[in-house]
Parts: sequence; C-alpha cells; structure tokens
Amino acid sequence: GPVIRFENVNFHYDADRPILKGIDFEVPAGKTVAVVGPSGAGKSTLSRLLYRFYDVTGGAITIDGQDLRDVTQASLRAAIGMVPQDTVLFNDTIAYNIRYGRPDADDEAVRQAAEMAQVGDFIASLPKGYETPVGERGLKLSGGEKQRVAIARTILKAPSILILDEATSALDTKTERDIQTALDRVAAGRTTLVIAHRLSTVINADEILVLRDGRIAERGRHAELLEKG
Ligand code: ADP
Ligand code: ADP
Repeated sequence: GPVIRFENVNFHYDADRPILKGIDFEVPAGKTVAVVGPSGAGKSTLSRLLYRFYDVTGGAITIDGQDLRDVTQASLRAAIGMVPQDTVLFNDTIAYNIRYGRPDADDEAVRQAAEMAQVGDFIASLPKGYETPVGERGLKLSGGEKQRVAIARTILKAPSILILDEATSALDTKTERDIQTALDRVAAGRTTLVIAHRLSTVINADEILVLRDGRIAERGRHAELLEKG
C-alpha cells in the first residue's frame, strides 16, 4: 500500500472555530493507524479529509508524496475503500449488495469476499425470516450483518487504502468478534486508518493517536498508552 502523511493539518468548518489543529502523523505503507478519543474530538472530520469530502484549511495531506489536492476525485475513490459505521443496503440480494460498484466481478470473487466477511451463508437467499428482499427501509439485517456486508464489498474492491469507522453501538461479544475478524482480514497489507471508539478494539494497531479537542494529545502503541494511563 501507499504511504499517507498528514503534515501539520488544520481544519475548520467555520472560520471562527478550529476543529483540527496541527495534526502530524504518518501511516506507513501497509500499516494501520488508529484514531481514538472522545466524541467531538474530530475523528470523523479527520477521515473525511482523507476521503476529500473537505479540503484541509492548513497544512497538507499526501499519498506517496503527492498532495491530495492534486489527485483526481476518481482516482482517490478507486484507491480508497471505506467501511462506514452505518451501511444502507439496496433492496436486493446480499450478492448484489456486495457486487455494488464492481459489476464485472465474477461470482466466485463475490462468494470469496462473502466468506471472508462471514456473510457467505446468506449470500444468495436471504436469511430465514427475511424472505422478502424488498422493504421500505431495505434489508432486515442486524447492524452487525450489515457491517459485514459492507466489509465484503470492500474486500471485493481490494483498495490500497482503507478507512474503517468502527461501530459505536454496543454489539454482543460474538458479533463483535466476528466483525473484528473480518476487519482484520480486510486491513491486512493495506494502508489503514481506523476510527475507533475504544482502545480495546485496536490492540494490534501499529500506532494509536489519541485525539482531544482537535489535537493529538498522546500517541503510541496499545501497551504504551495503557502504561501512561
Ligand atoms: P468525532 O468523530 O471525534 O466525534 P467529529 O469530527 O464528528 O468528531 O466532530 C468534531 C467537531 O466538528 C464537533 O464539534 C462537531 O460538532 C463539529 N462538526 C462535525 N461536522 C460538522 C459540520 N459538517 N459542520 C460544522 N461542524 C461540524
Ligand atoms: P466505494 O467505491 O468504496 O464503494 P463509495 O464512495 O461509492 O466508494 O462508497 C463508500 C462506501 O459507502 C462504500 O463502500 C459503500 O459501503 C457505501 N455506499 C456508497 N454508496 C452507497 C449507496 N448508494 N448505497 C449503499 N451504500 C453505499
């Protein structure tokens, strides 16, 4: 994967209220950096900057040394895979939803992605009790299942950069373990930025940034941060 660098990045939505202040870090090729911190600290904003929903208002973000502002929106979207916290699925089969955006993908690749994300069991037919694929608000899957479908979609896309937004909601332990396994699989070997809500889910991150009030208040590996308290 490529190298991502945030160089003294500042950002505000409104000029009188800075949100990110002097953010400096690097995600080395193929490594994982996690951003944790209290609600409102600026974690989502930081990930939106990488996806170029917004441009930095100071400093720069580079990918392999190239300023993000010089990368076309199309190539950025091709390079980055995002697993959102909440996924809205189309009113169609799981296979259709996994293939979304990748119409040329063959059935075997879709099946493999589903297996890796642990949704292989209900790829073609919908799970028992959900035989009606069409509903006003989409497929009736649990939050955990929907997230795994989003993970399968991202596995199929095979992006070189990943943005993972971990779910805040309290999932049961088994579901959480399944999702963690699927996320670890999709992150392997890709340059990954994880937005995490708890330190306990990012034990294996190569570096953890603790964001407070728009600044990196602390940084280190999981064990180092625990020592500091
Ligand atoms: P986190 O992900 O850590 O909870 P956010 O990045 O969502 O933090 O938010 C950081 C700050 O930016 C918050 O004070 C939030 O209210 C503000 N904010 C987020 N999105 C917008 C927006 N679109 N317009 C204005 N302010 C925003
Ligand atoms: P990608 O090329 O990675 O799919 P997008 O910008 O299209 O990038 O979407 C980012 C993520 O948001 C996707 O991985 C997918 O999970 C979700 N997504 C995007 N568009 C839709 C949509 N119309 N319906 C459902 N989910 C979507």
